[in-house]
Amino acid sequence: MPPVGVAKKLESERQTLIEIEQQRSEHYETRRATVQAVEGILYQPFKILDEGFVRVIDYMGDDSAIVQAARVSYGKGTRKVSDDRALIRYLMRHRHSTPFEMCEIKLHVKLPIFVARQWVRHRTANINEYSARYSILDKEFYVPDAQYLESLKEELLVQKNEEEGQKDLFGAQASATQKNLKGTAAQSTTNKQGREHILSHEEAEEVLRTIKNHSEASYRRYTDLLNEEGGKKIDEAKMGLARELARMVLPTNFYTQWYWKIDLHNLLHFLSLRADPHAQYEIRVYAECIADIVKKWVPIAAQAFDDYHRGGIHLSAAGLEVVRRRLAGEDITQAQSGLSKREWTELMQMLGQGGAGG
Ligand SMILES: Cc1cc2nc3c(=O)[nH]c(=O)nc-3n(C[C@H](O)[C@H](O)[C@H](O)COP(=O)(O)OP(=O)(O)OC[C@H]3O[C@@H](n4cnc5c(N)ncnc54)[C@H](O)[C@@H]3O)c2cc1C
Repeated sequence: MPPVGVAKKLESERQTLIEIEQQRSEHYETRRATVQAVEGILYQPFKILDEGFVRVIDYMGDDSAIVQAARVSYGKGTRKVSDDRALIRYLMRHRHSTPFEMCEIKLHVKLPIFVARQWVRHRTANINEYSARYSILDKEFYVPDAQYLESLKEELLVQKNEEEGQKDLFGAQASATQKNLKGTAAQSTTNKQGREHILSHEEAEEVLRTIKNHSEASYRRYTDLLNEEGGKKIDEAKMGLARELARMVLPTNFYTQWYWKIDLHNLLHFLSLRADPHAQYEIRVYAECIADIVKKWVPIAAQAFDDYHRGGIHLSAAGLEVVRRRLAGEDITQAQSGLSKREWTELMQMLGQGGAGG
């Protein structure tokens, strides 16, 4: 027999699966546009990190809704798929963004609180979060996967990533940095916001033990303050602290949940920032999952976004001048360019010319 806490969690997961299956078995007739690929995954949770997930709850519009809005059309707005594709790509290229705002998606996301803190900075979405004032939080906290921390398995991991051909936002191969980021955990020495090196096996084990022990102990304090565990009072003589106050002793690796609704234009902006190698791994895995969903939902818009924004580069006026002069055969150097050393290095990297000093 599993311990009471584990049995309770298993039972709650079983109930959740039954509810999802019930919802998935229901069908409605509609005149609205639907997307078969999204209908196929509706309500289904995609597992992220150790306890998190993303699932699509609802969506409005498809690729043709973008065209319909752009043409302010009475009908579906479609002439031919090739016309729609050309128009969507034109709109994307020229940052004519409002037609993309006509499509919306509603997701149910379960995520660690520290990831939620980064996510919530995106102000252009609507959120309704699980209330830890009203309900007791489950004993669910994020512990990084040991294989992403320790050196022993790093080679295996890189090999595995290569075999799986890790995909970029909408399908391109992941960059080397992105591939290797998973296998890093130690503080970066060059970027205060990042991690760069791997931990030794011993250090990784110690780190994981510390995170787990601290999280377990915090949850014990939480239930002690509430004076409640498994729906029962711990000490009949005590009142117990209010839920809205007791929660403050929980660390930010505990999981929260929310419904998150956003339009396609702002979602693509979110993905460009959060499915990017500069984003923290723990939010990036959510963004990558959502990017896959977007690809199913609006494949033409997703491809256009990848081609014109994510896969493209933005040049400053001085950067453009460097490119023009180089194309004209001039061997322009950083000193002559008017760019700072950092801007120059970034430009050369964008142009695939390494950090050429010039
Ligand atoms: C790698 C990375 C590191 C970061 N580091 C930090 C950090 O150290 N500290 C920190 O505080 N934040 C940090 N952030 C958060 C970042 O500064 C933004 O707050 C976050 O990415 C949301 O971006 P956004 O405002 O463009 O998105 P959204 O809020 O979704 O807004 C989308 C767009 O809508 C427009 N918009 C929305 N609201 C307004 C408004 N009120 N006024 C005008 N225009 C508006 C803007 O054009 C905006 O780009 C980081 C983000 C990333 C990706």
